[in-house]
Amino acid sequence: MNIYFYNTLSRTKELFKPIDEKEIRMYTCGPTVYYYAHIGNLRAYLFMDTLRRVLQYNGYKLKHVMNITDVGHLVSDADEGEDKMMKAAKRENKNPFEIAEFYMNAFFKDIEAMNIEKPEIIARATEHIKEMEQYVQKIIENGYTYQTEDTIYFDTSKLDKYGVLSNINIEEQKAGARVDFDPNKKNVTDFALWIKAPENHLMKWDTFFGKCYPGWHLECSAMGYKYLGDHFDIHTGGIDHIPIHHENEIAQSKGFSGKIPANFWMHVDFLTVDGGKMSKSLNNLYTLQDLEERGYDPLVYRMFNFGSIYRNKINFTWEAMDSAKTALIRLREGYKKHTEGTEHISKEELNQYENEFLKAINDDLNMPVAMSVVWDVVKNPKKSKELAELLLKFDKVLGLDINKEVEIQIPKEILELVEKRKQARLNKDWAESDRLRDEILNKGYIVKDTKNGMEITK
Ligand code: AMP
Ligand code: ZN
Repeated sequence: MNIYFYNTLSRTKELFKPIDEKEIRMYTCGPTVYYYAHIGNLRAYLFMDTLRRVLQYNGYKLKHVMNITDVGHLVSDADEGEDKMMKAAKRENKNPFEIAEFYMNAFFKDIEAMNIEKPEIIARATEHIKEMEQYVQKIIENGYTYQTEDTIYFDTSKLDKYGVLSNINIEEQKAGARVDFDPNKKNVTDFALWIKAPENHLMKWDTFFGKCYPGWHLECSAMGYKYLGDHFDIHTGGIDHIPIHHENEIAQSKGFSGKIPANFWMHVDFLTVDGGKMSKSLNNLYTLQDLEERGYDPLVYRMFNFGSIYRNKINFTWEAMDSAKTALIRLREGYKKHTEGTEHISKEELNQYENEFLKAINDDLNMPVAMSVVWDVVKNPKKSKELAELLLKFDKVLGLDINKEVEIQIPKEILELVEKRKQARLNKDWAESDRLRDEILNKGYIVKDTKNGMEITK
C-alpha cells in the first residue's frame, strides 16, 4: 500500500518512495544531554519511533541515525549564550563529560520505558570531531565561509536560496534584524561552523583552526553524511528545528555537496501543558519519573499521545492521562477476552480491519484513526483468537504491550466485603457467606474458594 508523509520541504503530503528499496536511510536530531528529558521531548522521540515502526510494518529495513549532542549547543539555537553542557557542569559541579554520560543514560532509560526503539546508530558529537573538522574544511574549500579571529562562519548569501523549509525572506529579516545583531556576521542568517574555544572552555579539540569546538548545526550534517551519505530518505526533528537548525543543516550540506541531504523533512509539533508552554518557572515541566510517581505507567503516556496526530499540538492534562490509563486497561482486557474466544472471523472481515489500519498509519501516521480501528477489533461482539492475533500484529506499531497481564485493581469496598465473607465462613455462617458472595457479584466481582484460598476476578 502507498505511504504518504507530510514533507515540510514541499508543504504537502507526498507519496513516499525510498531511494533504495532495500533499506531506508533516515536521521533524527537527538537530545542535548544536559538535563533529564521532559515529556515534551519524549513526544518528539515517540514520533520518531512511530515512524520507524510504520516503515518496518510496511516491510522496510532501516538504517537510522540519531545524534546525541554533548557539545556545541548554545543556550539560544542561534549561536548565542553559553554552551548548555558547560552551564549544566557548573550547576552540578561536575565536568561536562560526566554530565553527558549521566543524562544520556537517563534518556536511554526513559525511551526504553516508553518502548521507544533505539535507532540503529547512535552518534555522539564528541566522538565525531575529526569528521566534523573534515566537513568544515570542505565547505571552506568550496568557498562558502568567511572567518574572524575566533570563528568560521557560513556565508548564507553564497547560496541560491537560504530558508527553503521556512521560506525565509532574507531581505525582510535584514530589515527586521535586532540591534544587537552580531557585528561579525555579514548576513543576519549566517551562523558559526567552527569556534575557537575560550581559555576556560572545558570541551575543545586541537584542529586546523586552533583549539576549537563545533557548532551544533554542523554536528548533524557531518554525522548524517558519515553514516547515510549526502542524500538520504528522511530527516526528522521538532518544529522548533525548522527555522534555524534545519535551515542551517541544509545550507551546510549545500555548501558541502551541493545537495539538500534528505528528500523528506518531517517535524513533530509541541506538547503543551494546560494549554500553554511547559516551563520550569510555571512549575509544569514534567519528566517520565514525575508521571510514574503519580501512578502512571510510561505506556499510559504513550497511549495518551495516540490521541492526536504528530503534526498537531497535544495538550497534557491529568484528566487526559486518567482516560489514557483506563483506555490501556480496556485494550489489554479486550485482547485477553479475544484470546479466550473460540469463534471464527471471516478472512474478509480480518482483511478489512487490516487494510483500514494500514491505510491510517500510511496516511502520515494517523494514529487517532488507527486507534479507532483497534477499538473496532476490541469491541467486535465475537470472541475470537484470530482477532487477538490481529491486535498483537497491530501492537508492532502501537508498542503498547497489549498482551501484558492486566493487574486488576480491587476496590477497597470489595476487599472489605471479601474480608467479612472470610469471617462468616470462619463462623460457619454459610447463609451470610452466600449473601456476601452475591453482593460482591452484584458489584461486578467473583469470589472463588480455591485450594490456595479466595480468588477474586472482575
Ligand atoms: P533538546 O534536547 O532541547 O534539543 O530537544 C529535544 C527534542 O525535543 C527536540 O526535537 C525538540 O524539538 C523537542 N521538544 C522540545 N520541547 C518540546 C515540547 N514541548 N513538545 C514536543 N517536543 C519538544
Ligand atoms: Zn540536528
